[in-house]
Amino acid sequence: MGAPAFLAWPFLDAVHRELHDRLAPIAGQVSMLLSDVHDERPETVDCSVRRIVGILGERGILSFAMSPAPGVAPDVRSLCVVREVLAAQHGLADFAFAMQGLGSAPIGLFGNAVQRERYLPRVASGQLIAAFALSEAEAGSDVAAMATEAHWHDGAWYLEGSKSWISNAGIADFYVVFARTSAEGGPKGITAFVVDSNTPGLEIRERPEIVAPHPIGTLVLSNCRIGPDQVIGEPGQGFAIAMATLDVFRTTVGAAALGFARCAFDAALQRARTRRIFGGTLGDLQMTKAALADMSLDVDASALLVYRAAWLKDTMKGRVSREASMAKLHATEAAQRVIDACVQIHGGAGVVRGSLPERLYREIRALRIYEGASEVQKMIIAGQLLKLPA
Ligand SMILES: Cc1cc2nc3c(=O)[nH]c(=O)nc-3n(C[C@H](O)[C@H](O)[C@H](O)COP(=O)(O)OP(=O)(O)OC[C@H]3O[C@@H](n4cnc5c(N)ncnc54)[C@H](O)[C@@H]3O)c2cc1C
Repeated sequence: MGAPAFLAWPFLDAVHRELHDRLAPIAGQVSMLLSDVHDERPETVDCSVRRIVGILGERGILSFAMSPAPGVAPDVRSLCVVREVLAAQHGLADFAFAMQGLGSAPIGLFGNAVQRERYLPRVASGQLIAAFALSEAEAGSDVAAMATEAHWHDGAWYLEGSKSWISNAGIADFYVVFARTSAEGGPKGITAFVVDSNTPGLEIRERPEIVAPHPIGTLVLSNCRIGPDQVIGEPGQGFAIAMATLDVFRTTVGAAALGFARCAFDAALQRARTRRIFGGTLGDLQMTKAALADMSLDVDASALLVYRAAWLKDTMKGRVSREASMAKLHATEAAQRVIDACVQIHGGAGVVRGSLPERLYREIRALRIYEGASEVQKMIIAGQLLKLPA
């Protein structure tokens, strides 16, 4: 199946097909920027993310990642189309786009008019870079175990704690930070705040190098004073805000994985057609045929699950936790298999640093961990099934 054939599926409308066409030249422009990226030099990675955000803002693409009206989620099918196309170019292009959406969605979905006006237009134009700070060193999958606290004193909130693995840490202009505001344990008593990066008491420490580099780091909050106008939604609503945000973006992680998988599949198919071996081509061999069939099945099944979940979210408007988890789980796990098979089909050429299969092999790995590891997705799917009437 050629990549754009899925655009004719009934889950998608004319606007999605037009968006896909519009993205081709923009993806090409972004891709040229990425030739300057050197994975071992974090400053080139930071710089490229800023420049990609700028281009995507200028060309009107970031607005597809944003909430169009108070309390309204972005169109998830558009988010998926953009993520799929950009991921097929380079993981950093997808990353730059997706984080503008994830980092601003709590404001778009739950923020007040002043917050929306202050942040959203400039996130959409690429002038402000957004970040979403939920995880902590001791609270990743078990997010409700978070220890960061906010105390109310003399008309202001004081944040104390640290947030780990925060994408865009160091280059973001603001962070949506989740902190505990009451003694109630677990998911209760968590509040969401928007914190500008120049707020005294906010510091970036540790910027770990990860397998497929992107800006990431630890946020340390010490006696960080913020006004009551920086609470998103109501105090105590933070856990629901985080989960509602993830309910929109989880499916789109599957779309990014699909972009990587399609790219790997196309490269494997091309290699199978052209590589001379044993007096014929690699594609003449039965085991290569079986590998290609498995890859194609994985790609199509992922696409069906991703666009089903996106369509459901857009048309039903409510929570789609089970379908979003199924899309993310299947698409990320399947992409890992497809990319591994692509490396295998390329033989030694597939493990050369800087080659396409090698880059995809590094890029896919984190998607099976962030926004809920695969095991967490299984817990969500089973939990939802068990809630259904017998
Ligand atoms: C590249 C990258 C970018 C990230 N960006 C952000 C960001 O922008 N903002 C943010 O807040 N966080 C971010 N994170 C953090 C991410 O969400 C956490 O890493 C993730 O939730 C897992 O948490 P953990 O790393 O603490 O692993 P743990 O919670 O310790 O889990 C470790 C492993 O345990 C297994 N596991 C978990 N739950 C279960 C279960 N119920 N049953 C069986 N096994 C289980 C899984 O295999 C999991 O991978 C990012 C992480 C990465 C790697």
